[in-house]
Amino acid sequence: MIKELHQKLINKEITVTKLISDYFNRIKNQDKELNAFINLNEEQAFKKAQEIDEKIRRGEEIGLLGGIPYAVKDNILVKGLKTTAASKILENYIASYNATVIDKLEKEGAIIMGKTNLDEFAMGSSTENSAFFVTKNPYDLSRVPGGSSGGSAVAVKSEMSVFALGSDTGGSIRQPAAFCGIVGFKPSYGAVSRYGLIAMASSLDVIGPFATSVEDVEIIFHTIKGKDLKDATSHEVPDFTNQEIRLENCTIGIPKEFFVKGLDDEIKNKIEEVINKIKNYSLIKEVSLPQTTSALPCYYIIMPAEVSSNLARYDGIRYSPNPKFQIPNSNLNLHDLYFQTRGQGFGQEVRRRIILGTYVLSKGYYDAYYKKAQKVRRLIVNEFQEVFKEVDFLITPTTPTPPFKIGEKSSDPLAMYLSDIFTVSSNISGVPAINIPIGLTKDNLPIGMQIIGPYNSDLKLLAFAKLIEQILV
Ligand code: GLN
Repeated sequence: MIKELHQKLINKEITVTKLISDYFNRIKNQDKELNAFINLNEEQAFKKAQEIDEKIRRGEEIGLLGGIPYAVKDNILVKGLKTTAASKILENYIASYNATVIDKLEKEGAIIMGKTNLDEFAMGSSTENSAFFVTKNPYDLSRVPGGSSGGSAVAVKSEMSVFALGSDTGGSIRQPAAFCGIVGFKPSYGAVSRYGLIAMASSLDVIGPFATSVEDVEIIFHTIKGKDLKDATSHEVPDFTNQEIRLENCTIGIPKEFFVKGLDDEIKNKIEEVINKIKNYSLIKEVSLPQTTSALPCYYIIMPAEVSSNLARYDGIRYSPNPKFQIPNSNLNLHDLYFQTRGQGFGQEVRRRIILGTYVLSKGYYDAYYKKAQKVRRLIVNEFQEVFKEVDFLITPTTPTPPFKIGEKSSDPLAMYLSDIFTVSSNISGVPAINIPIGLTKDNLPIGMQIIGPYNSDLKLLAFAKLIEQILV
């Protein structure tokens, strides 16, 4: 889609201003119902559109992303725009600098439509944990769009933006992409700079793109990837362009631990159908990743530990205080003040995780929980390294079920956590993984398939996913 739009723009079949206004019109018509956006960036967007139109008129070259509208998850900083992380504690915070990914996309001329809804501080799998409103699934408004990057996934699916940025700590790009029938890519840990991303769990967080095709996701990834001096964990991504990827030369692993009880039958059957198609070209091999069955419990120790530390900076005073907070007595001591602001500013799920994290890091429990989880994490990393000596890629379902009903799991955190069962192990081990849509259930709900590659194989994985996309049509 990006390449075609680019052609239309440079052939002067459409102006950037017209393109942007078409997209804003769709937002106006649909978003009252869908609730994908927290804030829009209309004025700036049209200003930039005019600048790029002017460039085109002068016959200057514009990049592939020049004038292309995109949406940004509201935990990624855009200078001058509110960045709330869908939390009351940041309701009035205006970012004073750009995230590195935003700088890179700005340089290419992409245009921000607005900031999208998420589960508060990216904690959740349904976008129901936003402090502001619930985002709806475009396939069925009574269902969740997935989360935490639900707003970004809906913006792309409903053509309110061409692509979008999300963040993935345990599945927050792939799961909503699966629930909304689009492509969502979680790069290798460190392949994209985290500078300017509001940290959830720093050893797991990664920024990645949503789009309607693997090709578009690849274009965006090429723009945002790479080492950034402002993020010491970032690195260059190895190039594979000289190596042609052919399905005939690939061995695909099917990990049996991902096809167990609890996996929805329709999803299972659809994935098997796709695997049978791939069998015509590639070697398919059943593999076993026994340690991945510990990935979810391991995640729910490491992630809250990091959350409790990262969220300690929100005291209700820095990052613009919220005038809605009631602070009854101005003589409060510091401890009581924090108690008041953090108690009012954080939602239930965020508080739950801060408490869990503080507990697993506390004296006497640190060894039993946190240290042990780190050891399990190492075993999972090793297991992925071993399996990728045998196979080139792994294919699994992205989610155990199709999109669930709004409210269905909100009172049962464990049921909610289980929706990430197939996605968290890639964050725990740092490997790249992508969701591609593969069809619909009989109730017309989207089904996603996950492809996982070895650490730093991002470009190869995208090339492979494009081949799979082709044999699906
Ligand atoms: N749903 C997972 C969680 O609640 C993952 C969130 C994410 O990837 N940001 O933690």
